[in-house]
Amino acid sequence: MSAAKFNPKNYSVPTRLLYGEPKSEEWDYSHHVVPPITASSTFRLGSAQRGAEGFLALGKYSERKGETPIYVYDRMGEPNTNLLQDALAVAEEGEVAFCFSTGMGAVHAGVGFALLPGSEVISHRTVYGCTYSLFSDSLARLNCKVFFTDMTKADSFLPLVNDNTRVLYLESPANPTLEMLDLDAIAVLVRDLNAKRPADRRIITVIDNTFSTPFCQRPLTHGIDVVVHSLTKGISGFGVDMGGAVITRKEFYDQIFRIRKDFGAALSPEVAWRILSYGLSTLALRVSRQQESAMKIARFLEAHPAVEYVRYPGLESFPWHDVARRMLCDYQGNFAPGFMIYFALKGQTPEDSRRRGRIMMDYIAEHAYCVTLAVSLGQLRTLIEHPGSMTHASYPAEEQVKRGMHPGGIRLAIGIEEADDLIQDLKQSLLAVQKGA
Ligand SMILES: *Cc1c(COP(=O)(O)O)cnc(C)c1O
Repeated sequence: MSAAKFNPKNYSVPTRLLYGEPKSEEWDYSHHVVPPITASSTFRLGSAQRGAEGFLALGKYSERKGETPIYVYDRMGEPNTNLLQDALAVAEEGEVAFCFSTGMGAVHAGVGFALLPGSEVISHRTVYGCTYSLFSDSLARLNCKVFFTDMTKADSFLPLVNDNTRVLYLESPANPTLEMLDLDAIAVLVRDLNAKRPADRRIITVIDNTFSTPFCQRPLTHGIDVVVHSLTKGISGFGVDMGGAVITRKEFYDQIFRIRKDFGAALSPEVAWRILSYGLSTLALRVSRQQESAMKIARFLEAHPAVEYVRYPGLESFPWHDVARRMLCDYQGNFAPGFMIYFALKGQTPEDSRRRGRIMMDYIAEHAYCVTLAVSLGQLRTLIEHPGSMTHASYPAEEQVKRGMHPGGIRLAIGIEEADDLIQDLKQSLLAVQKGA
């Protein structure tokens, strides 16, 4: 019967994310219109021999001998997570995906699989707050040094490379400044370096693609090795679940599988089912709507006298507009600047800008209807926050400035409301800032 089916590869990615594949290697759900939720922490084994084979085959992609893999135990793999993984690999145009219970679980796996004691990481200078503390604190305790550099200049990492360098870590657009990195140029530089390094000292490029979601940017197609995501954000999209994912080539399957098996942080089947059935299948719809509103709001903010500057990849004034044009495009090839905006409030001094940021946040917390003071992003509802005193408080104040963060910088994650309603709330709040100035 399956031979008569049309080939999913002939359809667009948004349509494929809605339909998925009719079955995974281990499991057939083709009778269901929506895949069923399964909940069984362990699986019945046909014989002791088959159970033993199932265990040995786990995580050994390279050594499979053609037999059908079986489910043994949830943490190793289960139907709903595997369906989500297959769909995420389609979304990112990768070969394999692994899900984790949080984005940080995925960041740790995506970097950690490549590290040995004494290995070094070179990271873009502006990264998610907890990634920064993973690098500057937790990895440092394991004798893995992390160096930060401004990767908006593609070759800035070259002087930091030595025999111990194993990972080049990127975030683009970066959180919260929306700095954008030229992934093509970086991938070429790393490829040239790797051509002269032995296999076990190759540098692996890893990117956190949470801000753009695969709808706007697919780094593997630009030559990056590993993509990590917080599924908590734009991919799950409704603001009700946490999750993380690593998407890469088959080559790294065994090593990343080992990290999830041994360190845990597996995703629960029910959450995997929700992210698959509600989140990923509506990704294209939600992000198209969000970025249409984001463009209108970015233009409104740019024209506002209380605002010093606006960073949005869709604006002509965006400092990395050319890179953005090459990196950010949807599955049809249209420019896809995304739903994240960063803007800076004017002030007499840095401290004055910071104070105005707080006035705006407090005003919104008390009065706004459809803009919510909260961390996180990529939800149905528009969220606003002041990174300097909230998400990026783990960076010391002078490090924030060094990394291009403005003391009065505000991060806005656009939801699916009517753009004019959002502008109404922002207008009132900016008026309050002007009055309180
Ligand atoms: C939220 C976030 C993370 C961490 O994800 P959790 O699901 O909260 O663990 C990592 N990177 C970026 C860019 C994020 O926004």
